[in-house]
Amino acid sequence: MKPTYEPVIGLEIHGELLTNSKMFCSCSADYGSAPEPNTNICPTCTGLPGAMPVVNKKATELAALVGLALNCSINKHNTFARKNYYYPDLPKGYQISQYELPIAEKGWLDVIDSSALSGADAQPKRIRVRRVHIEEDTAKLSHEKNYALVDFNRAGVPLLEIVSEPDMRSVEAALDYATKVRAILRYLGVNSGDMEKGVLRFEANISVRPVGSDEFRTRTEIKNLNSFRALVRASQYEIERQIKIYEEGGTVVQQTLGWDDVRGVTTSQRSKEEAHDYRYFPEPDLPPLQLSDAWIESIRTQLPELPEAKTARFISDFGLTPSEARFLTSERTLANYFENVVANSKSPAKTIHSWIAGEFMRYLNDSSLSIDDVTLAPEMLAKLIDMVTDKTIGASAGKTVLTELFKNGGDPAQIVKEKNLLQLTDVSAIQEIVTKILNDNPKEVDEYNAGKETLFQWFMGQVARATKGKADPNVAKELMVKGLEERKK
Ligand code: ADP
Ligand code: MG
Ligand code: ZN
Repeated sequence: MKPTYEPVIGLEIHGELLTNSKMFCSCSADYGSAPEPNTNICPTCTGLPGAMPVVNKKATELAALVGLALNCSINKHNTFARKNYYYPDLPKGYQISQYELPIAEKGWLDVIDSSALSGADAQPKRIRVRRVHIEEDTAKLSHEKNYALVDFNRAGVPLLEIVSEPDMRSVEAALDYATKVRAILRYLGVNSGDMEKGVLRFEANISVRPVGSDEFRTRTEIKNLNSFRALVRASQYEIERQIKIYEEGGTVVQQTLGWDDVRGVTTSQRSKEEAHDYRYFPEPDLPPLQLSDAWIESIRTQLPELPEAKTARFISDFGLTPSEARFLTSERTLANYFENVVANSKSPAKTIHSWIAGEFMRYLNDSSLSIDDVTLAPEMLAKLIDMVTDKTIGASAGKTVLTELFKNGGDPAQIVKEKNLLQLTDVSAIQEIVTKILNDNPKEVDEYNAGKETLFQWFMGQVARATKGKADPNVAKELMVKGLEERKK
C-alpha cells in the first residue's frame, strides 16, 4: 500500500524595519522614494575599507518589539556576526547579521489549519518561533540583457529575520502563520507588509515524511517568495515533487530553490550551503548589545493590543462570530474604524459589522481603495446605519447614501432630505397605495388567488414603483397579503 505523506514546513521571514536611517549608517532607509539609484549611500553601506558601522538604536527597539509580540524572550546580551559570502549586491563580501546570540528567541504563535476546520485539528496549533535577529538588506540588482545594474540605496536597510521551528504540517498552517506574522508587523507599525515592494519576503523550508513518522527528512528551501499566493503555490508544488521522488524510490537532495511564478515550478539555484560555509565570526567593529531590564520593559509598554487579543475581545464584547471578528481585526485601522462606528451608533455591533463587511468593503474593493484611504468619518457612517436601523430610510436607500458619502462626503440626514429618500412607514399611506394597486389590477388578483403565487412579487414590484422603493417592505408585504386574501372569492 502507498504510504501517505505529510509535509513538514519551517518558515524564514525577512522584513525590513521602518526606520528613518539605515542599520549601520545615517543614510536614509527610504530607498523607495530616492530620486535616483545610488543616492542614499556612504562609505559604510557601500562597504568601503575602513568605514565603521554604528548600530541604529531605533532598529533595535523595533526588533525587540517584534520579539515581544511573538512571545520571545529577549537576550539582554546579544551580538553581531559577519556572515561571509560574495555577491555583487553585497559589496563588503559579508553581511552583518546575528548568529550565536540573536536579539530574541524561543517565542511562539498560535495558528489555525483551515484545511482541518471541521475536525479536532481545528484547535489552534502552537508554532514555535526559533529566533528573531537583526541584519542588513543587500543592494538591488537589475538584470539587463548583457549586463546587470546595481543600486546601493537598499544596501544596509535594517532587516529582521524571523525563523520558525519546523512545526507546520500543512500549507494552510504555513499560510496562517505567515498571514499572522504580517498582521503583527503591521499592527506594530514596523513594516508596511507591502510584499509587491519586496519589504516582506518568505522562505519556505520543506520536507515530507510518511504520516505517523516523527523523523525529519532532508529539506529544501524555497527562496524569496514575494506573495502569499507564491508561498502557497510553491509549497504545494514542492511537497508534490518530493512525494513523487520518495514514491519512485529516490532521495530528496538538500538544496536552495527558486520559484518560477510563470511556469509554476521550483528551480534549483544551488546545493544547500551549511552554516560553516559562511565562516560566521563575531563582528569586530561592533560591541555586543547590552539591554537592561528597564529598557526591555519600556519596549513592552509600547505593545499595542495585538490581533489575537483584539479578536477575542471583539467576540466577547460585541457578540461577533470568530470569523467576523477575525475579519475586522485583520487590519488595525479597520478594527479602530469599526470600534469608532460602534461608539457613535445606537445600532447593534452585528449590524455594523454587516455594513462594514458588506457595502463598505464592496465600495473600497470596487474603487481599489484601502481602509487607510477612507476619509468618511466613522460618526457619519454610524448616523447612516442608525437611520436604516430605525427605519428612517430603507436598506437600498442606505446604499445610495453610502455611495454619496464616499464620493462627496456630507451628512447622511442632509443627503436623505436632498434626495428625498425618507422611508414611507405610515401604514395608512401604504394601505392607500396597496388598495389602489389591487383595485386597478383585478385580472392579476384573480390569477393570484387561483394559485399563480409567483404574481406576488409582481404586486410588490408595483408598490416599489408607486413609492419609488421607499415603502417599508414589511408593512407593504403584510398589507398586500391581507388585501389579496380579502379579495378571494
Ligand atoms: P540553518 O538555516 O541554520 O541551516 P535549520 O536548517 O535548522 O537552520 O533551519 C532553517 C529553517 O528550516 C527553519 O525555519 C527550520 O524550521 C526549517 N527546517 C529545519 N529542518 C527542517 C525539515 N526537516 N523540514 C522542514 N523544515 C525544516
Ligand atoms: Mg536560511
Ligand atoms: Zn550609508
